This record gives sequence, structure tokens and C-alpha cells, in this order.
Amino acid sequence: MKITKSQNFEKELPEGYKQALYINAKAPKFGIIFNIIALVIMVLVMVVANIPLYINGELSWNIIRAGSGNVMTSELIVIATLLAYIVYIVLHELVHGIAYKSLTGEKLTFGVSLTCAFCGVPHIFTYRKTALIAVLSPFVLFTLIFLPIAVALYFVSPLYYLLSALLFAAHLGGCCGDLYVSYLIMVKFRKKQLLMRDTGPEQFFYIRDEK
Ligand SMILES: [Zn+2]
Repeated sequence: MKITKSQNFEKELPEGYKQALYINAKAPKFGIIFNIIALVIMVLVMVVANIPLYINGELSWNIIRAGSGNVMTSELIVIATLLAYIVYIVLHELVHGIAYKSLTGEKLTFGVSLTCAFCGVPHIFTYRKTALIAVLSPFVLFTLIFLPIAVALYFVSPLYYLLSALLFAAHLGGCCGDLYVSYLIMVKFRKKQLLMRDTGPEQFFYIRDEK
């Protein structure tokens, strides 16, 4: 049986569902907590990434200093890494959008706030599988891209290895909100019939209690 797009969501909240949880990444409390968690994840990833260098007697600061003489100036390295990160954020949101669009065909919303960048499909209620695929796809895709690149670059250039590790770390940290929503879908509400409405920064979770 072919699954059509309209089977992935509801236009109206069906009877029997009630709101169980609401989260808002634009809210100061949520935004601050998740950005702190993102930073902690980034630092942890960079500590792990530095272990093989340290074992070989190399220090990342020396690598960056040496690299800034050979490859480009340290200012250019910083600018290039920042630009790469901005491109990554745009691509990350686009992947959410492509997933939502191909699964629902509905109108998307994109935006940036002080605490987050976002993509949502605000006018519908998506079923568990649709919500999970759309929320997790950037995490899965970019982890599969960044991780092998970082490992390969380790054997090519310590400088590029460090920069790719930094991008991977920022990616992993930046995905903590998506991972939290995935946890809610897969663990917290696993036994419930679930619908999620995703406006981008906000997620509304609706469950139906079986009688
Ligand atoms: Zn995301």
C-alpha cells in the first residue's frame, strides 16, 4: 500500500487529542539552557578531537599558529570557519525543510532568532514518523558527512582536521534542540498516539489517551 502525503499529517487536530507539552526555543530560559548545553557538547567534542593530536605530541594552538603562516592568516582562518558555519546553519534548516516538504507538501516557515535558527510547518499536525524524520534528518545527514571528513583530514593536515572537528562539534552542539525533540517523540511519548505541530521555534505535542 502506497502511503500518501496526507496520511503523514492532519490539517485539524482530531478529536480525542489533547496538548501534552509545549516547548519554545525563542523563550529566554529554553534558549539559554540549550545554548549552554550546545557549548558544553562543543567543548567535549573538541577535547576528544584533541586527544590523538596530544598523543602525537602536537598542540592545537601550535597547529593553528603554524597553519596561519603556511596556509592563510589566522584572521582568514577564523573568517573562513565562521562562513562555513553560517553555510552549515542554512543547509541544516534546508534539510529540515526538504524533509517536511517531501513528507507533507505543506507550506514551510524559516527564520532566525537570537537563540536559534528554525524551520517548521506551522499549519498542520504531523504524525510521529513524519515528525521524527524531519527533526532528525539534519543530525543524521551532517554527522555522516562531517565525521568521515574529519577522520580523513586527520591524515592530511592537522589544521584542516581541527577546523573540520570544530564544524562537527558546532553541528553536534547545534543539534541538541533537535535531539531533545527526538527524545520526546521516541522515549517520553513512545506509548502514546502522538501528533506534533512545529512552527519552527515552537513544538506542540498532542497525545491521545487510549481507553
Ligand atoms: Zn535543526
